[in-house]
Amino acid sequence: MFCPQCQSEYVEGITECAECQVPLVEALPEDDVEYRPFVTVQTYHSRQDAELGKGFLADRGIDAVVETDDAGGASPGLAFTQGVRLLVKTEDAQKAAELFKESEKGDFVVKDDDQKVEEGSKDF
Ligand SMILES: [Zn+2]
Repeated sequence: MFCPQCQSEYVEGITECAECQVPLVEALPEDDVEYRPFVTVQTYHSRQDAELGKGFLADRGIDAVVETDDAGGASPGLAFTQGVRLLVKTEDAQKAAELFKESEKGDFVVKDDDQKVEEGSKDF
């Protein structure tokens, strides 16, 4: 049980906050700062790559969020020591993971053009 006013946690059975004298609630509102309905689906070495992944998901109707560990750019050097994370809503996580898995076989992440050369060189 939580107090909606001072956010103190109380054990079961207590119904009113001793400090604020307001009724307790079973859970704090979901817009609490710590509430994070996002999960990481991919980790990248650079923000640029992460943005590509974000665009990839956006094209397929999934909203994604790019998050770095540099705490908003206060310490730019840290951006290179930690990965850049791509997060999606919990309910989209499985679909996003499947899309990335498929994309590894397709042309989204193909860097060496093995398949493409075969396809494009039929005229020669
Ligand atoms: Zn209280």
